Amino acid sequence: MKRSRNIKIVATLGPASSTYDMIRTLSEAGADVFRLNMSHGSHDDHRERHAQIRQVEKDTGRPIAILADLQGPKLRCGTFVAEAADIEEGDMFRFDLDPKPGTNHRVCLPHKEIFEALEVGSTLLVNDGKMRLKVKECGDDFADCEVMVGGTISDRKGVNVPDVVLPLAALSSKDKEDLEFACQLGVDWLALSFVQRAADVEEARALAQGRAAILSKIEKPAAVRDFDAILEASDGIMVARGDLGVELPVQNVPPIQKRLVHSCRRVAKPVIVATQMMESMIESPVPTRAEVSDVANAIYEGADAVMLSAESAAGNYPREAVATMNDVAIEVESDPTYRQVINNSRHVERTSIADGIVSAAREIAEATEIKVIACFTQSGTTASLVARERPEVPIIALTPLVGTARRLCLTWGVQSHMTGRVDRFKMAVVAAARAARTSGLATEDDQIVVTAGVPFNVPGTTNILRVAPCAERLIFATDPE
Ligand code: PGA
Ligand code: MN
Repeated sequence: MKRSRNIKIVATLGPASSTYDMIRTLSEAGADVFRLNMSHGSHDDHRERHAQIRQVEKDTGRPIAILADLQGPKLRCGTFVAEAADIEEGDMFRFDLDPKPGTNHRVCLPHKEIFEALEVGSTLLVNDGKMRLKVKECGDDFADCEVMVGGTISDRKGVNVPDVVLPLAALSSKDKEDLEFACQLGVDWLALSFVQRAADVEEARALAQGRAAILSKIEKPAAVRDFDAILEASDGIMVARGDLGVELPVQNVPPIQKRLVHSCRRVAKPVIVATQMMESMIESPVPTRAEVSDVANAIYEGADAVMLSAESAAGNYPREAVATMNDVAIEVESDPTYRQVINNSRHVERTSIADGIVSAAREIAEATEIKVIACFTQSGTTASLVARERPEVPIIALTPLVGTARRLCLTWGVQSHMTGRVDRFKMAVVAAARAARTSGLATEDDQIVVTAGVPFNVPGTTNILRVAPCAERLIFATDPE
């Protein structure tokens, strides 16, 4: 199962994709990372899917990353006497803290903190932005709003308040329970929804205690404004275009996507472009041309991963959606224009020994017939630095740590392999050559570039680069030691 593309595919699991057979099918069609969405499903559902993924991983022999996506402080209104109410443009409508069922004049918004943050002129969006209201008067427990765009507001609909930084805890009590549950299950990535500030990321990191890497979903204007600090605090980023396009005018999303993708590559942290990528494939076995272009565009931009949500979780064609993304990726990545764009956007400011070694590894590979760049990595940092170079040859990350192997499934171009504990550089080269051969990326007649840090098993020491033959007897014959 040799992968012939570099961008990674994240597939969300749900009712349409919970069996061992379907998860295996999606993995074989190209899914590198599976997302468990904590906004839906019970802990038992997620435990079951987690177990199936780990079984597929074992049976296919390829590391798989699992990403648990926490719901975050998503605001919802209360219920209505008649389950829903119609509100019309020009009407006045009140949100308050009264738990009594709502009418077409008022409904409960059971989040006390919101009323403290709202101001006259603030906008409230209901049901993914389909309805829009403007605050005319507000107090500690109410907000009287004018309906700007009307519609039907029904029980427990989502409410967005784009222009205020909410004084809400980043993690609700449900999120904290889900986080602990996911960490105990053993997930590789935790995604945080509606991150507003770097402190939100730090709070989650303190609770995760190193058991999972932290990915921030950028879907609030405040997070876009404070992106540099959030990126610094995070291990990875998701451009969460669904809510982002509700909280901000939709036309702002593409430039933000470009900026975020570019910034993440600069600091060698993985970035996922998410939501509505293949939306029509929920119902149809083929995508629209616009969707194909959207996926292609994310690939040209240099994203690490593209994501499927309902397409794989609840759609009629989960396998086709993954396979289509895979096909688009193969085609785009073989386009000479893609190479040109990727090379032109390479980050050139290099400040460490590891930076220098990975760039030399890429240059050597590009100037010669070398087939693979293999790197020994403890924390995954060196592999991420190699990936940032976006080399033309495949990247093999060798690591003794299963958590590192799995987390790297989200990183552009990296194929993770487990090694036993390696203490001598010569044995590292032997292991790298073997991984290159068994994965079908190189033959006995090829050469590879190997990077490693000596002493071994200390993170952050990459200081050796060797060009080595793939044939074992030649490795020993040419060994400099
Ligand atoms: P969600 O996040 O699907 O959890 O809302 C993605 C997005 O908002 O784009
Ligand atoms: Mn979202």
